[in-house]
Amino acid sequence: MTNEHYDVAVVGAGPAGLFCAINTATPDHRILVLEKMNSPGRKLLISGTGQCNITHDGNILNFLSHYGSNGKFLRPALLSFSNRDLTAFFKDHGVATETESGGKVFPVSRSSADVLDGIIRECGNQNVILRCNEAVTRINRQQKDFEIVTSQATYHAKFVVIATGGASYPATGSSGDGYRFAAGMGHTVREIAPALTPLYIKDFPFADLAGMSFSAMHCSVWRKGKNVIAFRGDVLFTHKGLSGPGILDMSRTIRSGDVIRLSFVGTLRQEEFARGFVEQVKSNGSRQVKSVLSSYNIPQRLVGKVLDLAGTSPYLTCSHLSVPLRLRLITHLTEFPLTVDTPGDFSVAMVTQGGVSLDEVNPKTMESRKVKNLFFVGEVLDYDGDTGGYNLQAAFSTGMLAARSIRKRYDQDTPLLHANA
Ligand SMILES: Cc1cc2nc3c(=O)[nH]c(=O)nc-3n(C[C@H](O)[C@H](O)[C@H](O)COP(=O)(O)OP(=O)(O)OC[C@H]3O[C@@H](n4cnc5c(N)ncnc54)[C@H](O)[C@@H]3O)c2cc1C
Repeated sequence: MTNEHYDVAVVGAGPAGLFCAINTATPDHRILVLEKMNSPGRKLLISGTGQCNITHDGNILNFLSHYGSNGKFLRPALLSFSNRDLTAFFKDHGVATETESGGKVFPVSRSSADVLDGIIRECGNQNVILRCNEAVTRINRQQKDFEIVTSQATYHAKFVVIATGGASYPATGSSGDGYRFAAGMGHTVREIAPALTPLYIKDFPFADLAGMSFSAMHCSVWRKGKNVIAFRGDVLFTHKGLSGPGILDMSRTIRSGDVIRLSFVGTLRQEEFARGFVEQVKSNGSRQVKSVLSSYNIPQRLVGKVLDLAGTSPYLTCSHLSVPLRLRLITHLTEFPLTVDTPGDFSVAMVTQGGVSLDEVNPKTMESRKVKNLFFVGEVLDYDGDTGGYNLQAAFSTGMLAARSIRKRYDQDTPLLHANA
């Protein structure tokens, strides 16, 4: 068991922790990063299916509405280290970025490994000590510093940064340990739940259409007969239910038993569609119903499926379409009801909602309001962003803000230890 002393110990080598570490480094201070997996940044590597959507384009103020009700807390972090600052940082470190038409920003190489390599290289340049395969098991606040106990050793540090991430995709190492450390030091941890997660649907009728996707689909969510949300978003059919950015972003508000109604008629409202459809049916008696529906840009395979689910033949002609069947088809096409069996669990959720209570962390510094010199950065905090690069930007921005706050404190407080001590 060693008993090494550091100025800063960062727990967790994800984007938030690593970014904080490189930005707290000075020639005079010893920075340690402890990572429980055998390599750093596992979740970063799978981000954006390995292509790494690191941030979003546009005015940073527009980011604030993309974190549910918690964007306000992130305001100082995002404003002091914005999307522009992040892309400039990566450009300076050999990772050029580009923006997709929808605003998502990716490395030009579309490789999250390049993003991670850029950060790890900087750790080397800044003499940050990165120890992998060292799970932190305990953090104790002592009179003058913190004692950090790992599976291998005991360390001491004047500042501790908890950057352990959330609890989703636990195979990447983020399995919720930070909540335990926070609670152990007197912090409130808001109940956690999976977010940015697909929805499993009871008896999903479109499993054979898995892979079919819809842009800006109109969806509404109903709970005990009441409409709780309505939104437009990109939706994907999977083998077991629904996914795609529109569903993932809304998943934080959807519960088991909710009914989600989908419209397959694009931007048309139900009444508009019904009016046009009825007119066409009346004036095209010999045409097949499916051919009339094809003029609404509904994929043919979906039309066949909906006709089947409405209990009719794909060859039915308009003159044989009874009024009750017509009404059933209109409902199926404009508000097809699907009952949510369950939102995906932590094994498939991209992020975690809930976490270390924001009331107890100073948003201008990321320092605990309860324990001096203790900082929280990244997803361990009680925020969760939409898809589109908002989560990584928040991890980098909170990491940077904590780093700047700690650096200011180097000058104010007598350092615990210098590099050559
Ligand atoms: C499949 C998937 C795709 C995603 N795609 C995107 C995307 O394209 N864009 C985007 O913005 N966001 C994306 N995200 C979300 C984003 O990856 C996370 O929000 C981000 O990685 C959080 O960063 P973090 O540093 O806070 O935590 P993490 O990246 O989770 O890092 C925490 C680190 O702490 C370590 N750790 C945990 N406990 C301990 C312990 N006791 N001791 C030592 N180390 C410990 C973990 O092993 C881990 O390495 C995606 C997430 C997933 C799962």
